[in-house]
Amino acid sequence: MNFLNFKNKVVLITGSGSGIGKAAIIAFAERGAKVVINDISETKGKETLELVKQKGGTGIFIKADVSKESEAKKLIEETIKEFGKLDILVNNAAIVVSGKVENTSLEDFERTMDINVKGPFLLCKYAIPYMKKNGYGVIINMSSVAAIKGVLDRCVYSISKGAMYAFTKSLAIDYIKDNIRVNMICPGTTLSDGIIERTRSTQDPEATMKELIARQPMGRLGKVEEIASAILYAASDDAAFMTGSAIIIDGGATL
Ligand code: NAD
Repeated sequence: MNFLNFKNKVVLITGSGSGIGKAAIIAFAERGAKVVINDISETKGKETLELVKQKGGTGIFIKADVSKESEAKKLIEETIKEFGKLDILVNNAAIVVSGKVENTSLEDFERTMDINVKGPFLLCKYAIPYMKKNGYGVIINMSSVAAIKGVLDRCVYSISKGAMYAFTKSLAIDYIKDNIRVNMICPGTTLSDGIIERTRSTQDPEATMKELIARQPMGRLGKVEEIASAILYAASDDAAFMTGSAIIIDGGATL
């Protein structure tokens, strides 16, 4: 078995300028994939592309805001123009807004749903016709343990990740006959750039990080590479019999 081989596969990961997406896109490139890095931040995207190239990988960076229809469409079209097909789409870009329902603004609700839910909807809408034409496709949606358990002060984020759970099931059944597999990853708290930035913006970053770690059953946060491994497995042909599934990878947070 040639485990986790992505030679000749074209992979697009949204929000791969940092965190889990960045770790995953580098791992795909190291295993032979042609990669498309996307991010809303040009600096982050270009940094990731540089790392991919340093490791001998092939890829491009496309700046796009996944929540805007014209940009999501352009992201898929430019991928096809560059590489002729799209085999694997990872809907990873997302934002986290803290708060309970009563203190979350409608603006924050709409912004979260636009990026975390409308973005993946638009990318699938424009990518799937190409995957059908090619007779092959894999979609990975980033959900979260917040879709399956109550997480304090994450109301809108949890709604958005619950939507990704249902969206994954819906896509999986709709495209099973087209040889398109759709799975989701539900990570627990993972030490990504996003988490580091959010911790730094609190009044006492050290105390916030300690508190975050203390909540984890394993006494540590996940590593981005550990979540990337799950993405690669679900995206690989080694997982050919798996669709509509959730890989919960959370250091025991949902035990
Ligand atoms: P991160 O914040 O480190 O990186 C997200 C990237 O997405 C950033 O580079 C950002 O610039 C980009 N982005 C934001 N809005 C965008 C937009 N509109 N268009 C394109 N790019 C945009 O994120 P992370 O912590 O690595 O999380 C990655 C995924 O995993 C997310 O879907 C997140 O919800 C999920 N997840 C993360 C954790 C965790 O603890 N880190 C836990 C559960 C689920």
